Order: sequence, then structure tokens, then C-alpha cells
Amino acid sequence: MVTCKEFLEDFLADYLDAGLSPEVVAELERHLESCPPCLTYLNTYKRTRELVSQTAAEMPPEMKAILRKFLVEQLTKEKS
Ligand SMILES: [Zn+2]
Repeated sequence: MVTCKEFLEDFLADYLDAGLSPEVVAELERHLESCPPCLTYLNTYKRTRELVSQTAAEMPPEMKAILRKFLVEQLTKEKS
């Protein structure tokens, strides 16, 4: 089972860059189906990347950090 933390920290960028094996992708998609916060994060991340790609080469690290912090806060809130 993939955890939220693993998804965010280890797999998200590779997932979007299609750099993962099909088994891992299937695993991540199963996680996304049962985890709305990660799905929201993924969509936000994708949209931000698209916006950024129109103006710059890649998403600034600060933006990634902000997005990740946002999601971690969301997840923490729901669990407590
Ligand atoms: Zn999750």
C-alpha cells in the first residue's frame, strides 16, 4: 500500500513524468481513488505545472514546497 507521504515525496513527480512502472502506477491510482486529498493535490500540482510551463521551464521549488505544505496540513486536519 502506498501512503500519502510516499505518494507526495517519492512518486508524484515521476508519476506525472510517466517515469514509473505500470505496477507502481496502478498502485498509485488505487491510492488516489480512495484518497481525495492526494487527488486534489495531484490536480492542483498538474494545473500549476501547466501554468508555469507557459512562462518558465519548470515549477519553482518554493511552489512545490507550498503545495506540499498545504496538503500535509489538510491531511493532518482530517486525521485529528
Ligand atoms: Zn493520500
